[in-house]
Amino acid sequence: MADVIPYLDLAAQYRGIKSEIRAAMDRVLDTNAYILGPEVKAFEEAFAAAHDVRHAVAVNSGTSALHLALLALGVGPGDEVITTPFTFIATVAAIGYTGATPVFVDIDPESFTLDPSKIEAAITPKTKVIMPVHLYGQPADMDPILAVAKRHGLHVVEDAAQAHLAEYKGRKVGSFGAIACFSFYPGKNLGAYGEGGAAVTNDDRYAATMRALRDWGQTERYRHAMKGYNYRMDGLQGAVLGVKMPHLDAWTEGRRRVAAAYREQFEPAGVALPKEMPYARHVYHVYAIRVADRAAAQRALQEAGIQTGIHYPIPVHLQEAWAELGYRRGDFPHAEQAADEVLSLPIYAELTDEQVARVASAVVAHTTPVRPGQVRADG
Ligand SMILES: *Cc1c(COP(=O)(O)O)cnc(C)c1O
Repeated sequence: MADVIPYLDLAAQYRGIKSEIRAAMDRVLDTNAYILGPEVKAFEEAFAAAHDVRHAVAVNSGTSALHLALLALGVGPGDEVITTPFTFIATVAAIGYTGATPVFVDIDPESFTLDPSKIEAAITPKTKVIMPVHLYGQPADMDPILAVAKRHGLHVVEDAAQAHLAEYKGRKVGSFGAIACFSFYPGKNLGAYGEGGAAVTNDDRYAATMRALRDWGQTERYRHAMKGYNYRMDGLQGAVLGVKMPHLDAWTEGRRRVAAAYREQFEPAGVALPKEMPYARHVYHVYAIRVADRAAAQRALQEAGIQTGIHYPIPVHLQEAWAELGYRRGDFPHAEQAADEVLSLPIYAELTDEQVARVASAVVAHTTPVRPGQVRADG
């Protein structure tokens, strides 16, 4: 039987950069710069430059970045933050950390991101922030989101945890909102060798506030101007990310090459493939098709030696942890249908043409497509 094609292959990426990584880690170990330090600072500068923003504040996870972004904007108990229920739980957790209440708006079924036309109806006098998620690596439709935010005097925070180097209308994500947040969880498009994240902004004050908050609220040593957190990035993670940063463009192109190859096979076969919206440069953190009878499809692919994932099987408004919000099945039909149908295929730069062809033909042979935008009668 042919080799298994893993959903993710971090070892393959490591083989290509091993000596650079070892040298960078040695620099940290030789100088004991374990927390923040010069490697983290250099990475912050490179990451900010790559996204055409003035500041990047490196922290210990994407969730911490989201938390600090909301705090820097003054979000707290009694406030509401509008976001999508079709996201990883961390988006909503970060809102909860501030004491604010998450308020959901359904997705557009073609893009899987926040439907801008539904935001206005969810705004109340308590709304402070709109937090779109650039899900799977495709930017949310930012122009109408920014327009509604402006009309109502709201801030926008981009959850760009899955969208490093993604573009909206030719411009990198990261500066559409007041602050944008990225994750460097190992499996993300830019992954550390442990936890990591960053908040980016063009605003000097937000950057200064987040820098203080990540380090116990210190504005100088042992002077605590605000109640802060231990959210600093490790020196070793900064070193790893600094090595990886110059490769990110090529790795992203590699993901797009795989997506293009899938498209070539899937379009004529009628597979319900993800749509790259006309405004977007998708970076394919996740390549999710829609299938009928997903459990059977996933089993058949597993038998063909192809690992898949599901991002995400339960929308956040139906998660037990957030039952207190009082949402019910049927509240967000597009998110619920997506959660039932999506199936994520392997997508990374190290996949060979032969592996891509194997995945594509197995998908065509073993899955039954469904079409986006057709909400089930029982939905
Ligand atoms: C990964 C992720 C986060 C959280 O990032 P961590 O680094 O794991 O804390 C937040 N939002 C989305 C959409 C994510 O995919």
